Amino acid sequence: MTKDFRATVREAVRDEALLRASLADSDIAPMLMALVQLTGDLELMDEVAPHIQGPWNFLQTVPDALKQTVRDRLVATLKDYAAHDRPAPARPTEAVLQRMMSAGVGQPVPAEYIALLLEEMSFGEADTRAVQWQRDPAQLPLQDFKVIVIGAGLGGLCAAIRLKQLGIPFEILEKNHDVGGTWLENDYPGCAVDTPNHFYSYSFHTNNRWSRHFSRRDEILAYIREVAQAYDLRPHIRFGVEAKRAVYIESTARWQVSWTDRAGLAHSAECRSLITAVGQLNRPAIPQIKGLETFRGPAFHTAQWDHQAGLAGKRVAMIGTGASGMQAGPSIVGEVAHLRVFQRTAHWAVNNPNYHLPVTQGHLWSLEHLPYYANWLRFQLFWASSDGFHASLHADPDWPTPAISLNATNHKMREMIVDYVRGELGGDEALLAKCIPGYPPYGKRMLRDNHWYKMLGRDNVALETEPISHITADAIVMKDGTVHPVDVIIFATGFQASRLLWPLEIEGTGGHTVRADWGDDDPRAYLGMTAPHYPNLFVMYGPNTNLAHGGSIIFHSECQVRYIMQALRLMIEQGVDSLEVRQDVHDGYNRRLEAKARDMVWTHPGVTSWYKNSRNRLTVTSPWRLLDYWEMTRVFDAGEFRLARRPAALDERIIPTGT
Ligand code: NAP
Repeated sequence: MTKDFRATVREAVRDEALLRASLADSDIAPMLMALVQLTGDLELMDEVAPHIQGPWNFLQTVPDALKQTVRDRLVATLKDYAAHDRPAPARPTEAVLQRMMSAGVGQPVPAEYIALLLEEMSFGEADTRAVQWQRDPAQLPLQDFKVIVIGAGLGGLCAAIRLKQLGIPFEILEKNHDVGGTWLENDYPGCAVDTPNHFYSYSFHTNNRWSRHFSRRDEILAYIREVAQAYDLRPHIRFGVEAKRAVYIESTARWQVSWTDRAGLAHSAECRSLITAVGQLNRPAIPQIKGLETFRGPAFHTAQWDHQAGLAGKRVAMIGTGASGMQAGPSIVGEVAHLRVFQRTAHWAVNNPNYHLPVTQGHLWSLEHLPYYANWLRFQLFWASSDGFHASLHADPDWPTPAISLNATNHKMREMIVDYVRGELGGDEALLAKCIPGYPPYGKRMLRDNHWYKMLGRDNVALETEPISHITADAIVMKDGTVHPVDVIIFATGFQASRLLWPLEIEGTGGHTVRADWGDDDPRAYLGMTAPHYPNLFVMYGPNTNLAHGGSIIFHSECQVRYIMQALRLMIEQGVDSLEVRQDVHDGYNRRLEAKARDMVWTHPGVTSWYKNSRNRLTVTSPWRLLDYWEMTRVFDAGEFRLARRPAALDERIIPTGT
């Protein structure tokens, strides 16, 4: 809660009819947790808990009478707080919090998560992910320390906010005309987030006003713009400039970054530290299908949607059935004459009843006015969409059907989805056979069904699963010779994700370059952020930091930024010129990471995806739980780095501890 507690409570009880109506329209679990936090009374919680069977609200089967008891108690409690002008209650003890967390999601929440979740929920206390100076910043040579950030998406802006809070001078280079990164670039019909929005937002800048549980692109972009405004970041951003090259100058321990502006003119600037926040998914991959250049109609990628193409009444081909295709296809099928979907391999998609739902007025009211409701909802959604089933993504060596599932839990998931898809397809077994992947669930990114299967059942839709041979002026021709006349081709074919940082050229010490070290698809870094030979360079959303089991990439960004800010603090407070991760630390981490990933679903031999490279090594996706990565990045350990300092600035008195 950012507002004053007493004022919030007074506001909540001002109109009792509205309060009651809103509670009647709110989720039971966060309401219950708000009540427990306000009263400290665990009895009612114990009574309700058995009816909470999972972290999503649709998994909660609390009887109406019990729900009403919770609401009545809440009304009485809030009125009592208001009548006596009572201050906020003390935060529950960790033991109580653990009981509350477990009850709230209907699963035991291990104690190891408590510190993380408290940080994520925040409860209006100090922004604990913000790094604080350990010396008086007025005495530090901050003006000599410039940072360049490349990219003004959610990652780059997160770094910018923290740099600004610390008073470290910085500049952002952004190739687009506005902030937003992937959310600016992707504006295909149906573009939306599939991580629940009340978790998919900065923990230090939450938004209680999302209109949907899974918001559309425009609303997310509006949020990002609002963040840029709130922290006054635009004056720090050069828009329309694409960073081309960064070279580390050993003699000065500075990065020299070169870019071209909108007019094509070359520029460069130096900085002490370089942070790349260029994302993994912004260089479209358009397959080189023979004859494509001869096609006469519009042909474009989902991330470069041609809004002038005019799809109404056209025969449209869509190649690719991943997350972008899953959203775009059903969003255009109503206007096109015919949609022909070309699927290379099937993807798994789950149903989430909240996916298409707007947030109700009562829920909105509670998020704004009911103390602790928003915090507990964030926790629930964190839990619902993150580490809960991570353990089930490892293969059981004794599992009898290893080609199609990993273990009993994974197999159950498979059967559940098959049943769901069968129902959506109205029992069309031939179509079902085409739609069910031959690899275990979660092998590729798990999609959320956007009425995809219902779409496939429509008269004006066809699903092609045979390979494409070539393209002519007005048709797609299959390997078996079938000719499909089409007017428009949409490439929902994903991105060149494995070529991390490409096409940016980065040259470190001793002639090392990122392209030579990483090749086209073999990137490695310590914690996904830093590598030997590249001092003072930090990569956000780097190797093995993509999230595939769930969670929000914003969470990872916040972890990375905290780590980077601690590194910069060390440099500034201790007069460190350069800081370079030790080779053994880097290699050891990558060995552990590879061992962890070895039996996980993403490296399953039956799976092809952008998560791994041509040698089946997991390269862009993280095998860790969110908790593991949070722990590994929580405290920057200077002992893992080679530090070089100017002798005059040597100061051993300050040892960085904690955040
Ligand atoms: P994607 O997941 O990589 O899917 C690309 C699709 O194109 C796949 O079906 C792929 O088939 C197919 N394809 C690629 N090359 C092909 C070729 N030469 N011939 C035929 N088919 C080909 O890309 P995406 O859908 O754009 O999604 C990328 C990532 O962006 C997602 O995984 C997700 O992380 C993110 N995203 C998120 C959201 C969201 O939050 N809702 C929405 C969109 C994207 P194969 O599977 O056989 O390779």
